Amino acid sequence: MRDVFEIRAQDAGGRIGDLRVPRADVTVETPALLPVVNPNLITVDPSRFSEFGAQMLITNSYIIKQDEDLAERAREEGLHDLLGFDGAIMTDSGSFQLAEYGEIETDTEEILRFQHDIGSDVGTPVDIPTPPDVPRERAAEELRTTQERLELAETVDVGEMLVNAPVQGSTYPDLREDAGEHAYGTDLDVFPVGAVVPMMNQYRYDDMARAVAGAKRGLGRDAPVHLFGAGHPMMFALAVALGCDLFDSAAYAIYARDDRYLTVHGTEHLPDLEHFPCSCPVCVEHTPEEVRRMPDAAREELLAEHNLHVSFTELRRVKQAVRDGDLMELVEARSHAHPRTLDGYRAFLDHARQYEASDPASKDTFFYTSAESARRPEVIRHRERLDRLSPEGHVLLTEGPRHRDYDDCWHVKPPFGPYPRELSETYPLTAEIPENMDREGYEAAAKAVARLAGEHPDVEFTLAHDSWPGDALDYVPPRVALVDLREERLEGPQTEP
Ligand SMILES: [Zn+2]
Repeated sequence: MRDVFEIRAQDAGGRIGDLRVPRADVTVETPALLPVVNPNLITVDPSRFSEFGAQMLITNSYIIKQDEDLAERAREEGLHDLLGFDGAIMTDSGSFQLAEYGEIETDTEEILRFQHDIGSDVGTPVDIPTPPDVPRERAAEELRTTQERLELAETVDVGEMLVNAPVQGSTYPDLREDAGEHAYGTDLDVFPVGAVVPMMNQYRYDDMARAVAGAKRGLGRDAPVHLFGAGHPMMFALAVALGCDLFDSAAYAIYARDDRYLTVHGTEHLPDLEHFPCSCPVCVEHTPEEVRRMPDAAREELLAEHNLHVSFTELRRVKQAVRDGDLMELVEARSHAHPRTLDGYRAFLDHARQYEASDPASKDTFFYTSAESARRPEVIRHRERLDRLSPEGHVLLTEGPRHRDYDDCWHVKPPFGPYPRELSETYPLTAEIPENMDREGYEAAAKAVARLAGEHPDVEFTLAHDSWPGDALDYVPPRVALVDLREERLEGPQTEP
């Protein structure tokens, strides 16, 4: 058990946790967002970060080290005084510069010592951020180098400083899984899923989801996971559902620099805005027109402040959703912001079985809000648990009332399928579903009927359905008798519904 991280609540793969950062003597509540600070280009003063809700920031130790004056000041004053921030400080190592420029003038041992000397609370070795889509051989070879560096990092004496163990592997989920397993086997502390920035920049949320899901399979449940370089609030809910605990945002400042305004539905451009769709202090006190007329520096700072507000607000909303057990509803709502975020959500649903294990058995009412809901972990779990039930004799599975001619009558509810009546008041069968169910919901229910029939070859089943579409009924095996409740009533005496 890793003693710096404690999970307090969970929903899907998402969790609320406490990350203890001993060197800063603070406990950071996760999911946490770390604003990125470029010490040469301060947009919002870090001394103000607590106004937004930041408990931790991230800065780049390599940039500091390469600047003689800055490096000397950092050594003398320490990072916390240098930046005017008394929360926890994470430092990056220059790996990003390595990916951008092909070489850097430092190595893991030196940069970890430097990070320690300037007072960093969480340091990073020099890993190799392999970009997406490279040949597998290259991804595997660079991963081996990263793994050697993690093993080297274990041997460097850094006192109480926590150390990141980045998980690489490009767009190969199995390499990500191997990388996660290896990193988890070291005695390093925090696990960034690395090199996802190029995927984010190209809106490849599906590849991002597959990379994270791969890394998570290798990592233990108690590993704190950082999605390195992911700072757009539009994807926080999805990334948390995938099991990420830390995020960092350079976006708040970079976007502000060219008049881009973040929202949870995507990015707006200041010149296009007549109204601010936000109630943060910046947006309440100014109109877009006023901000447009401001000098560059003032405009950039205000936009960056809004960008931070909207990001931290979304993070709080995500945390509350984990607490309430309706994170999946939030992920689903956010996924409809953009076709590519929908791709990301669908890639998550491809891993529903993986995430089913960590999903609580009981939580807030399940809302069926789109066809994607039919593939949620709760639906998969219900279907898989049907084999724990023991129907006997001739069983009516019905969307209608009970009927005396059968040995037993079970309810059927899309997208879950059949269940004994005594489970009616239990999660997730209390789900709110639309009056007009979509094909995917009926298909999921039909697959569950098929599974139940397959598990119990000696039991006779009749499915009484409310005019399910033909392609859904195609999933039901021929040995299950069908009755369409809209076309015919079941013969014989009925009992109350
Ligand atoms: Zn705002």
